[in-house]
Amino acid sequence: MGRRHVYQLEDLGSRYEVRLSALREWHVVRIRCFSCERVGDVYPKTLKRQFAVDTRLIDLQPKFRCRRCGNSELNLWKIYRLPRDP
Ligand SMILES: [Zn+2]
Repeated sequence: MGRRHVYQLEDLGSRYEVRLSALREWHVVRIRCFSCERVGDVYPKTLKRQFAVDTRLIDLQPKFRCRRCGNSELNLWKIYRLPRDP
């Protein structure tokens, strides 16, 4: 039996106001490239290692480039809740 990776969208309020401190270990930030639609996941642990916890996600967006096409503009960031282990 394969593990299902159906993530649940987490609503932490306006994405323009969400700060790293609001992200928990059970969250994942899924970034969809506006240009080529590649999807990549970034984990809060990774972000918190590199940036201050009061950094707003909206301010991080220009720093993340798509690994396929290099685009960093208008990419869609969404926060999901990881499935709990049974
Ligand atoms: Zn891309």
